[in-house]
Amino acid sequence: MGLDEDALEYHRTDPPGKIEISTTKPTNTQRDLSLAYSPGVAAPCTEIDEDPTDAYQYTAKGNLVGVVSNGSAVLGLGDIGAQASKPVMEGKGVLFKRFADIDVFDIELDEEDPHKFVEAIKMMEPTFGGVNLEDIKAPGCFTIEERLREEIDIPVFHDDQHGTAIISGAALLNAADIAGKSLEELEVVFSGAGASAIASARFYESLGVRKENITMCDSSGIITEARAAEGDVNEYKQQFARDLPEGGLADAMEGADVFVGLSIGGIVSQDMVRSMADDPIIFAMANPDPEIGYEEAKEARDDTVIMATGRSDYPNQVNNVLGFPFIFRGALDVRATEINEEMKVACAEALADLARQDVPDAVVKAYGDEPIQYGPNYIIPKPVDPRVLFRVAPAIAEAAMESGAARTELDLEAYEEELEA
Ligand code: NAP
Ligand code: MG
Repeated sequence: MGLDEDALEYHRTDPPGKIEISTTKPTNTQRDLSLAYSPGVAAPCTEIDEDPTDAYQYTAKGNLVGVVSNGSAVLGLGDIGAQASKPVMEGKGVLFKRFADIDVFDIELDEEDPHKFVEAIKMMEPTFGGVNLEDIKAPGCFTIEERLREEIDIPVFHDDQHGTAIISGAALLNAADIAGKSLEELEVVFSGAGASAIASARFYESLGVRKENITMCDSSGIITEARAAEGDVNEYKQQFARDLPEGGLADAMEGADVFVGLSIGGIVSQDMVRSMADDPIIFAMANPDPEIGYEEAKEARDDTVIMATGRSDYPNQVNNVLGFPFIFRGALDVRATEINEEMKVACAEALADLARQDVPDAVVKAYGDEPIQYGPNYIIPKPVDPRVLFRVAPAIAEAAMESGAARTELDLEAYEEELEA
């Protein structure tokens, strides 16, 4: 059977789907039920009415994330709508549970208008400890997230933007280290100017890349000041417009240190790779087919090509599952009000740091027993590495406490031990 048929079988096996709700307290006796529901349940209601933060103590809010989508940019499938996106959102819930023991309600909203979408999520704020926006198309996704960050007091995180930015940012920290280049000097070219590219470019600035060293290309070529002046690009692309002559991706890549592909497969040639600076860094992350294939890019040159893709069958997979479960774990555990830039940078640094350390045998075994060591073929941790949880979540919690986003303080050492246990 092919993967598609296997996937249909997996989902249809009774009970349909892949998630269910379970209870966490005794429900055997009449007394248990009168505690769980009426009349006993009135007591926690009264407490929360007096102090809303008691919701974290008496309800599941503090371990519950809303994965919310309108199905407008689902995987590589495009705008398939809310209902058809449900398997993906349920799947996201599976990953939250599997990697960080976080519960998810998946919410598929049949609403294309960003402002109405925002209103719906605002109404749901009491339910959740955090909101993971998912698979919402650009530029609407930027508006939605900006407004929600202003208007609600729980973390809001659009994973397609920031997950990609953070994981590829961690990879960039280590790739630059291996290539012996500093982030301040890197000339970075983006192919793509959508949700993930804009967020990644902004995040690389937070890591030290200079805005004037970033060139961004969309489907019409380099985003230049001339194009911006003509009103040819949206306000988000406009922020990256450069004073350069009109040109295409091939022109932009000449002499660049870093290529970041968040566009479509197969648009980079070996000649374009050959035109880049010494020891180039190539993150070709279009899925399922990268902008240039792994072997093709490696074979284009004799010096070291540091290559990452979105694929699991090559080294250095930029996989968002390295981020969102642990980012939310840390954020929920300090009852954070937001996931801010400091917390995102802390995540990228924790991941980069972890990749520089020796890899446990269990992880090596899970990846076919080939030695795994920090270098061009291992710049980010592997998704099944159990250490990611107890390194990233405390780093997030610490950054939240230091930046004023935490509602409660944690003893970080005890917290890390608790996560390891
Ligand atoms: P998006 O918002 O739809 O943006 C796609 C961008 O690609 C648009 O800016 C589009 O240009 C541009 N584009 C299309 N054809 C192009 C061409 N020939 N040359 C240059 N740019 C071109 O999509 P997204 O969510 O950012 O995702 C983009 C890609 O990255 C997808 O393949 C996705 O699977 C992949 N991705 C991978 C990871 C990962 O590996 N972890 C994470 C996120 C995304 P216009 O603006 O002119 O239309
Ligand atoms: Mg997604």
